[in-house]
Amino acid sequence: MRTLAAYRFALDPNDAQLAALSRHAGAARFAFNWGLARVKAALSQREAEKSYGIPDSALTAVPWTLPALRLAWNQVKNDVAGWWAVCSKEAFSAGLDHLARGLKAFSDSRRGKRKGRRVGFPRFRKRGKGRDSFRYTTGAYGPAGDVRVKLPRIGRVKVCESMGALTGRLAGGSARLLGATVSRSAGRWFVSFTVEVDREVPAGPSPRQRRAGPVGVDLGVKHLAVLSTGETIPNPKHLGGSLRRLRTASRAYVRSKPGSAGRRKRAGRLARIHARVACQRRDGLRKLTTRLAKNHDTIVVEDLHVTGMVRNRRLARAVADTGMAQIRRQLAYKTGWYGSTLVVADRWYPSSKTCSGCGWRNPNLTLSDRTFICQSCRLVLDRDLNAAVNLRSLVAASASETVNARGVDRKTRASGRVAAKREPGTARADQTGSASPRGGAA
Ligand SMILES: [Zn+2]
Repeated sequence: MRTLAAYRFALDPNDAQLAALSRHAGAARFAFNWGLARVKAALSQREAEKSYGIPDSALTAVPWTLPALRLAWNQVKNDVAGWWAVCSKEAFSAGLDHLARGLKAFSDSRRGKRKGRRVGFPRFRKRGKGRDSFRYTTGAYGPAGDVRVKLPRIGRVKVCESMGALTGRLAGGSARLLGATVSRSAGRWFVSFTVEVDREVPAGPSPRQRRAGPVGVDLGVKHLAVLSTGETIPNPKHLGGSLRRLRTASRAYVRSKPGSAGRRKRAGRLARIHARVACQRRDGLRKLTTRLAKNHDTIVVEDLHVTGMVRNRRLARAVADTGMAQIRRQLAYKTGWYGSTLVVADRWYPSSKTCSGCGWRNPNLTLSDRTFICQSCRLVLDRDLNAAVNLRSLVAASASETVNARGVDRKTRASGRVAAKREPGTARADQTGSASPRGGAA
């Protein structure tokens, strides 16, 4: 099986390279904004032409796709950006590509071809707002040895850790480079290589995985996760300290005056701590998902409400929810690698409120109740463990009966090509299953 994987490394650029990185991100932004202005102008031109009664076939064309935008850009770049040659042409291409994707998302969303929240028309990008990034897809980019990255027009930039795992695979021919995204996050620059990897993929679970059976996973804040086996996976070391600092820093940020220098400084500090917390959790989650996918035949996790999650004001919950999105994305491709199956419980499934012993529901359970006490069968169990056992029961029950009886609507084994990118929201829906609870909503 050929799968996509991403390898991300922090960069350690010198001053000249640092300036060049910013310049390239600026070039991408410039091309994006130029293209957007061009599209808007063409749209208003069309409106005017329509009002004159010009037939549809003769209306001004709008450069809506990447090839059309590129063509238009190449015709005018000498006039609108005489300095373009100081940057790799890939940077401008990346900006136009972002725009083309934004335009497509907008039209797909309007036509109902896209799930999730409505996507608005692309907006101009301001310097210092949004993520600085650009991408190489052609040319002589890539690892140069184990500790440097070759970025055309920028130079050989040092990376903070050895890229041995990636370079070994590239040299061995089991991986192929598809692109490199360079981006700035919380003041640091990163390169993320997208590679296509060959993998031996088992057709199904091994006898050992089958013996271990399904496992339910409840992600927490105090612990990384609680498994239905009764095992508690602790948080990675130092995460507690980072979370505490995060709380203080976000409080200081909220109290600062909008638009002030102090607020900018605090926003920077907050972003850096967020990045560290994310990194610490990601590391723990990576180890956990590999272990789960390797050792069980089915892994059951909770679904999450992706659009609602970002707006959640409870900090701790938001951090856990981000973890949930990562665990799902990682399990979606790792189960494919190891022959196991991922099942995602319906997001209305009341895994915490239901007694794992008898099915009684406690509608009044609150987040602060750490122990589940059943008033019907007297079961007393740790809240998270109870939830994990409920999740496991979703498949344990459906395996012995017909699939529809328990409302498990889709349960597919990952096969073929899977996207394994780390950017948010890229998990392919068809790689995961979805199980509804007995009869629906809570
Ligand atoms: Zn009970």
